[in-house]
Amino acid sequence: MKFAQTRIAPTPSGFLHLGNAYSFLLTKAFAEKHGAKILLRIDDLDRERYRQEYVQDILDTLDFLEIQIHQGPSSIAEFESQWTQQERRPLYQAALEQVQQSRLLFSCTCTKSQILQIDPRGIYLGQCLDRRMPLDKNEAAWRINTLDADFLDYIAYPDTQKSALIPEEASCYVVRKKDKNPAYQLSSLVDDIYFGVDLIVRGQDLFPSTLGQLDLARILGKEEFAKTTFYHHPLLKGPDQSKLSKSAGAFSIRQLRQEGKTLRDVLQLMGKSLGLHEEIQSFPEFSELALP
Ligand SMILES: [Zn+2]
Repeated sequence: MKFAQTRIAPTPSGFLHLGNAYSFLLTKAFAEKHGAKILLRIDDLDRERYRQEYVQDILDTLDFLEIQIHQGPSSIAEFESQWTQQERRPLYQAALEQVQQSRLLFSCTCTKSQILQIDPRGIYLGQCLDRRMPLDKNEAAWRINTLDADFLDYIAYPDTQKSALIPEEASCYVVRKKDKNPAYQLSSLVDDIYFGVDLIVRGQDLFPSTLGQLDLARILGKEEFAKTTFYHHPLLKGPDQSKLSKSAGAFSIRQLRQEGKTLRDVLQLMGKSLGLHEEIQSFPEFSELALP
């Protein structure tokens, strides 16, 4: 199997943690095994949470993990002048204009707490579908009606044709946020197509997004996206089996670096979090153990 392009796509909204590092190293292992180039795509559409120090943390983390990227920024200045998602706004805009032709698009004014009131898990059940509000309504998000969506075909690594329904977590996914910015599902899809990404390595938590993006690609007539191969990796857990998050200081890569930890220490920590019995000593060993 040969792939041309994969990507590492962090969001500069917090300091990276061990789970991010695991995803990055796994992407490197895939890229080396299959001859793919690595694109560094920093997803900075959310300008409210954007901070330069988070971009620096991404760059420092890649250095620390000894991951060489083939395409993408190598400094904050380069990022802000050439690689920010702001540069690709016309592409997102074109996709948003196109999606307006779809009868599946609808306007939604629900707040998070209203959604939680109807479903405590926070799953959107299509409450605004029958309200048929205009798309230019103030403070309205644009959603895609997925309630009648059919099975979607996709390729799971290594080369398995699979078929799945859009999971509840991505039910009626948002394509344009209330602030009129493109939503993650749309920008990520447009970017992956733009950069010719044919292998996506991401956490299992993003599986619903994968299905949502496949659905959106079909609506936009971007059939090439269905040829992408996906690998959804298990998520690393904290010591108490908790979900790792960017706000949690523990397991932040920056903190581990500051404590003088080495790449080998980090690999060993990952091995423990993954429940491996062997101790990982080096990147080749990591590849051996972590690659499916
Ligand atoms: Zn709604």
